[in-house]
Amino acid sequence: MTKNVLVLPGDGIGPEIVTEAVKVLGTLNLDIEIDSALVGGSAVDATGNPLPEETLNKARSADAILLGAVGGPKWDGNPMESRPEKGLLGLRSELELFANFRPAILYPQLAEASTLKPEVVSGLDILIVRELTGGIYFGQPRGIRTLENGEREGYNTYVYSESEIRRIGRQAFEAAQKRGKRLCSVDKSNVLEVTVLWKEVMEELAKEYPDVELSHMLVDNAAMQLVRAPKQFDVVVTGNMFGDILSDAAAMLTGSIGMLPSASLDKDGKGMYEPCHGSAPDIAGQGKANPLATILSVAMMLRYSLDESAAADRIEAAVQKVLDQGLRTGDIMSEGCTLVSTEEMGDAVVAAL
Ligand code: NAD
Repeated sequence: MTKNVLVLPGDGIGPEIVTEAVKVLGTLNLDIEIDSALVGGSAVDATGNPLPEETLNKARSADAILLGAVGGPKWDGNPMESRPEKGLLGLRSELELFANFRPAILYPQLAEASTLKPEVVSGLDILIVRELTGGIYFGQPRGIRTLENGEREGYNTYVYSESEIRRIGRQAFEAAQKRGKRLCSVDKSNVLEVTVLWKEVMEELAKEYPDVELSHMLVDNAAMQLVRAPKQFDVVVTGNMFGDILSDAAAMLTGSIGMLPSASLDKDGKGMYEPCHGSAPDIAGQGKANPLATILSVAMMLRYSLDESAAADRIEAAVQKVLDQGLRTGDIMSEGCTLVSTEEMGDAVVAAL
């Protein structure tokens, strides 16, 4: 049966990197139909809305979504409801994409690109599972209010229900079962009641997954351990805000955020796939962006949502091959390698396929 993929190029380098990823997808000759739509700043410019109804409807009916990135200085001064990021958050919550998978893999060819010593990071392969549609980023009430004394006060609410914790926990335990069978749950249970509950629910779940070894770590220690000895982790599961921060730190262990894909899944495995990085306005339109994170996001999409694991393996092998050939975009460039543009990198992956 034909599968439908919705492509959302977005802003900044988004259209450039997505063009290369779609080129790679097209080379595989799979039974996939591709549609596209506006999101983020480009959607604000065209319709006034970062997530137009048409885009949301197309996203609802697609089997999977491939997103570039959203945002840029042009829209930074916009009111909250017409900020590009609102489009992204809206997609995640409307489609209930509660499970964010962010692998951080250090490709041996890029060991020198990490700012950490090669012995600390070589062979690194960890997976951060972040809850994506709850916690403090969505909790109500929220806002900025003026107190009786005239002083302004900003406030947000950190809230997780038991069922929200359980469903992300299950995704993480199941991911751990398919990998090294170790799961570290990160919380702040010495201070925050929300995460006391988080920890309790993880403990309850652990009884259903006896083959997975569950451990717990406070978020401040986790941040420290990630840069001290990151290879101690296999799968890490945590809430929305802690996951946001820790997954960026994990990304940088690998040297370039331009290499890292991500998946955001609903309970049925439908997902939105995107690179971990943003819209990189500083290099947009210059052919400098690394398209590999987006190309590797296509591989995740084929594996998790489109039931095409063999094609996913082929893409990942092709990426390894271009790295072996010494081809590098600026962000991962090192001595003795060949500097290539966004398009040349995409062409090289296609040729390797
Ligand atoms: P960024 O990830 O866009 O860029 C950080 C740095 O990494 C920049 O120097 C950039 O040039 C570089 N970089 C990023 N991706 C690269 C790639 N593929 N190849 C080579 N270099 C790359 O983060 P930022 O500068 O903090 O944010 C820029 C905009 O992106 C902001 O508007 C922000 O809100 C938005 N943003 C969007 C997303 C998303 O769409 N998922 C995520 C993060 C930030």
